[in-house]
Amino acid sequence: MVDFNKVACPFTYRNGRKCCGYIIGARLYGRGKDYPNVRKVRLWCSEKDDHAGAVSSFVSKERMEFYPDMLPAGVWKAIETGAIPST
Ligand SMILES: [Zn+2]
Repeated sequence: MVDFNKVACPFTYRNGRKCCGYIIGARLYGRGKDYPNVRKVRLWCSEKDDHAGAVSSFVSKERMEFYPDMLPAGVWKAIETGAIPST
């Protein structure tokens, strides 16, 4: 069953396995909470939080941080509508 309110976690492990979690939160970095004032978005997932420790900290940090226009499909919309809680 697919829950369309849930946005799949974009994280992919080094062995190619995709994370089976979904995004439970986002932190917006920038001068404001609205596009284009948001400069970066960090995602948290239901399975592994922000995936820190799954791979080297530098890589994991990069993997769960996105520029707004680089976010996986549907994520920004979900943040805007509140489907993904953001801080
Ligand atoms: Zn995940």
